[in-house]
Amino acid sequence: MRLLLVEDDAALAADLVLELRRAGYAVDLAGDGEEALFMGTTENYDVVILDLGLPRMNGLELLERWRTDGNKVPVLILTARDSWREKVDGLKAGADDYLTKPFHFEELLARLQALLRRSHDTVVTQLKAEGLTLDEEYQQILLDDGAIVPLTGTEFRLLRYFMMNPGKLLSKTRLTEHVYEQDFDRDSNLIEVYVRRLREKIGKERIETRRGQGYVFKG
Ligand code: CA
Repeated sequence: MRLLLVEDDAALAADLVLELRRAGYAVDLAGDGEEALFMGTTENYDVVILDLGLPRMNGLELLERWRTDGNKVPVLILTARDSWREKVDGLKAGADDYLTKPFHFEELLARLQALLRRSHDTVVTQLKAEGLTLDEEYQQILLDDGAIVPLTGTEFRLLRYFMMNPGKLLSKTRLTEHVYEQDFDRDSNLIEVYVRRLREKIGKERIETRRGQGYVFKG
């Protein structure tokens, strides 16, 4: 999952980037509203964490611009403590959820996961396919026979994206966009390598190749 973090507090942003990456997100960081507006318009994010108090363009205006332009990316806003007005304004401007600072990272993660599931039309709390469950907390696969299969960070991000989009034709370009960060050398041929590794772990038949089009995950 690709995530855009919009936060001008450098210390908080650095902590969050670290934790979010550890939790399996590909994270890009924007430190002001204009940069975020540009990134959110040119890149394909799965979810955005948006601080409202930002230099150059505040978070509310930014959010309104995205929504006016038809950008429907799920947005979780970070608001100041005790500011009910910020929450109301944020929700009216098109935010999908909010969290009040300071917050526990676990709550942020839980809310992000809920947002992502909603935006993928899935209500399940665990990602499952026949015979296997994705353990998002420990980034590993649990097989129904009790075996545990560890995943690398990239394998985890790729498999999670597949499992959130079962039965859909996913092009290499789309997978690359949702699995890697902006600064990463995004060679879509790498996706082939990771698909091969995933197949070795979960079985070849689960990921079907459509020549010249992409892949389909059998849910
Ligand atoms: Ca701020």
